[in-house]
Amino acid sequence: MEKIKTVYSPRFLTDYPSVDCESPDRVEFIRSKIKDIAEFIEPEPCTLSDLALCHSESLIKTVARTKAVYDAAILAAGGAMMAAETALREPCFALVRPPGHHAGHNFNGGFCFFNNMALAVKNLLAHDTIENALIVDIDLHYGNGTHDIVRSDPRITFRNIDARSREAFFKDLEEALSDAGSYDILGCSVGFDTYIRDWGGMLYGEDYHKVGSSLISANSRLFCVLEGGYYVADLGTNTQFLLTGILKACS
Ligand SMILES: [Zn+2]
Repeated sequence: MEKIKTVYSPRFLTDYPSVDCESPDRVEFIRSKIKDIAEFIEPEPCTLSDLALCHSESLIKTVARTKAVYDAAILAAGGAMMAAETALREPCFALVRPPGHHAGHNFNGGFCFFNNMALAVKNLLAHDTIENALIVDIDLHYGNGTHDIVRSDPRITFRNIDARSREAFFKDLEEALSDAGSYDILGCSVGFDTYIRDWGGMLYGEDYHKVGSSLISANSRLFCVLEGGYYVADLGTNTQFLLTGILKACS
């Protein structure tokens, strides 16, 4: 495989109200860096009934009060759903923003509005396309929103990598993926804020290559969804490492 299907839309560059560090530049830097190894596919926004799979009516209404935010958030969720559907045939990366893993059933925060990952998995389950799923969250921060949504669903296993050193990260990742092959799909919430020059100060660029190959070796029905990562200058390179790790193991 030479290229990886990547969900992307120029509409993710919309400058909706958020904090400065979660800027449109993040997505644009990644897009331009990976364009030679990515086959871009354009997502559709998710629907209100999709959102109801994971979120309360009051949370949906609150987000909908700011149209630019709502439009971006339903497009990101639709993008993650598209990535999960694609992953049934080939690996896929959702290059989306806003991120989602801090959005729970009835709360959100940390630059997240709707939970892209949880919506992607719940959508496949709702259509009986899969019977179970493993979600692994490798972002620096705890995927509290994802945990909140999936904890009562026995079909979904959620594992969060909470390491504070490079060695511990890879040990925890190996453990998290130890039985990944027994699930119908593997979704990875990818945050690059574990990067050595980012907030986490742990992983080197090449390490994301290893992460990519570990994920795809664990389960070939793999989709990754972008969460955090704020050292914008190297965000594209780190994503490239991740994706080439996935592609190399596929070839
Ligand atoms: Zn994070």
